Order: sequence, then C-alpha cells, then structure tokens
Amino acid sequence: MCLSRRGFVSCLGALGALAACAPVGADAAPTGPEPTPGLALDADPAVVVPVVRTDAEWKALLSADSFRVLREAGTERAFTGRYWNDHRTGAVVCAGCGLRLFDSGDKFESGTGWPSFTRPAAPDRVKVHRDVTLGMVREEVVCARCGGHQGHVFDDGPAPTGLRYCINSVSLVFRAAT
Ligand SMILES: [Zn+2]
Repeated sequence: MCLSRRGFVSCLGALGALAACAPVGADAAPTGPEPTPGLALDADPAVVVPVVRTDAEWKALLSADSFRVLREAGTERAFTGRYWNDHRTGAVVCAGCGLRLFDSGDKFESGTGWPSFTRPAAPDRVKVHRDVTLGMVREEVVCARCGGHQGHVFDDGPAPTGLRYCINSVSLVFRAAT
C-alpha cells in the first residue's frame, strides 16, 4: 500500500486521520462533495447477493475519491466529509452499490469527524474483517454486497451496542426518509 510516493503520502494522511479519531468536540459545518453512487441496485434486498467487478469497472463507475476509499481502503480526512455533521432523517447507502447500510436513528455524535453509528441497518448489510495494516489491529467494515471499504468498528461506542462504526462519508450516499 505504501510502495509509491503517492501511496506513501496517502498512508501518512490515513495515520493523521486515525490520530484525529479521538473525540475532539469540533463543530465545523459539513463540507465536501456529494458522493456519486457507482450502482443503483436494490437498497433493501431480501437476500444480499454479492456484486463482483474488476478494478477497471469500478474506476469507470466511481468518483476518484470514492474509488480510493471503497476499493483501496483509503480514509478521508476527518471533518472533511459530507455526513459527519449531517442530522437529516433517513439512511445512508453504499456509494458503490446502493445497499442501505446505516440509518440516521443509529447515528451519534462521536466527535471524530466521521459519520458514526452504533449498528448497521441490518446485521447482513456489512461484513467485518481483521485489518492489520498501518501497524494496528482493527476491525474493517465492508459493504456486504460489493465488498467496498466503509471504515472500521471500535468497541467504545454508546448503548445499546457499545460499538462505534466509524465510516467514511465518501463511502456513503444519503437517502432521505420517504
Ligand atoms: Zn456496496
């Protein structure tokens, strides 16, 4: 991941972002571009059927920022994404495939600068993998349908789960409640 100069700089950025993951209580307005979903499949399928595409296909479907996070496990800088300070009622879907991943009712103020949720919209919407990159052991959260990287889950969240799903805004697209 850190072979190229560009990749190295990207890793440094990720480290800085991680350092900022501790609550700091900032209250800046949400900024950043609205992510563009690569696909518009069923948001709430009865059964989550995996979607597999090549990197070239994903590059054609996604914005550069979404590709970097979803397909290369990048991390957006804290307090720069569109949704960390977003309080609208609705849900967020995967920017890669449109699967509904999290609901606004499970969102909470973590102070980290990333959208934070206590649980996914349903247990089958995300998968969690052990991530040992950057010299740390973390639990990576990916979309259950397209495998797109969403963020990480930590065990310092609020009730009822005690979990904190720390998710990149650029991995998500907001959908208002209808
Ligand atoms: Zn997805």
